[in-house]
Amino acid sequence: MNALVKAHPREGLWLQTAPVPEIGQDDVLIRINKTGICGTDIHIWNWDTWAQKTVPVPLITGHEFAGEIVEIGRNVQGLQLGQRCSGEGHLIGKQSRQSRGGKFHLDPETRGIGVNEQGAFAEYLRLPAFNVVPLPDEISDDIGAILDPLGNAVHTALSFDLLGEDVLITGAGPIGIMAAAVARHAGARNVVITDINQERLDLAAKVADVTPVNVAKEDLMDVLAPLKIKQGFDVGLEMSGNQQALDQMVEAMVMGGRIALLGIPPGKSPVDWSRIVFKAITLKGIYGREIFETWYKMIAMLQNGLDVSGVITHRFALADFEQGFAAMKSGQSGKVVLDWSG
Ligand code: NAD
Ligand code: ZN
Repeated sequence: MNALVKAHPREGLWLQTAPVPEIGQDDVLIRINKTGICGTDIHIWNWDTWAQKTVPVPLITGHEFAGEIVEIGRNVQGLQLGQRCSGEGHLIGKQSRQSRGGKFHLDPETRGIGVNEQGAFAEYLRLPAFNVVPLPDEISDDIGAILDPLGNAVHTALSFDLLGEDVLITGAGPIGIMAAAVARHAGARNVVITDINQERLDLAAKVADVTPVNVAKEDLMDVLAPLKIKQGFDVGLEMSGNQQALDQMVEAMVMGGRIALLGIPPGKSPVDWSRIVFKAITLKGIYGREIFETWYKMIAMLQNGLDVSGVITHRFALADFEQGFAAMKSGQSGKVVLDWSG
């Protein structure tokens, strides 16, 4: 089968042939139709320090996918051949206290497909049946291929009650933009999104009903009065991984505000701790998606009017994967989807 492989410990990914995976009795084999390119895949492409420490070579990369089930292990029940699906790319252990308590997303043994284990940038993927999420007919393969990052957005946005709240999102990358649409859908009063990249702010305003603020040119505090926000934002969703963005967010929050942190800073980053203490701010770190509550909620929202399709700005056939990665690296894109069905 065709696969995008981290075949050498240097920059790039290579389109190679690999054997179709053999499945175990608790697995299914999925024929991949569409995949999404993630920021993580760019780190792996670039072979940065994190990738060098984390990713074994050779490895089939990729973890955002939609496809259909073509083989089912002996012990698997409740799934059908031909069933369209996406799936949770975090493979969890079942021994930890967290897993046994039903908090699967907090299992410390978690391993990621396309990062630690063979991934989804391939014509076929082996996945534990436990991780499969069937797709209803009304969710396309394109959207199915971006449910993983939409799940990050949903997990972060639904961390706190948003109904009637003023929400600040820092970082209008694909996940920040989708979080803005989710916050709106969940009933936020105002959603303000910041970035320093005007193209991405323009995209955010196309995809969701938001107030975009280019913090390279404008003062975030200037939008409070026109939006009738008196003291500051009630909820903050940090989706840039940028130190200045977090500082700005803390500054712009109300007393007792709540912040969910998804963005990953490049290294240790200093925090004005006393500001957080005196503002009595609640901070919550977010990792991945809640397994499987986030999947349940996002599918329910997609079936009831949540529309994030505008965040997909580029589509390429597999043969043109290099253009897809170039689009992602340009910083001018939303989500980039690769088609494996051709
Ligand atoms: P992205 O890199 O595409 O988007 C980040 C955006 O932040 C960019 O548009 C960038 O221009 C913007 N930005 C930079 N400086 C800024 C500033 N000072 N103020 C406001 N915005 C600024 O990333 P993405 O794919 O949308 O993901 C968002 C973040 O979430 C990334 O940091 C990613 O690593 C992280 N992430 C975390 C998890 C998790 O499980 N915690 C999962 C997926 C992604
Ligand atoms: Zn991802």
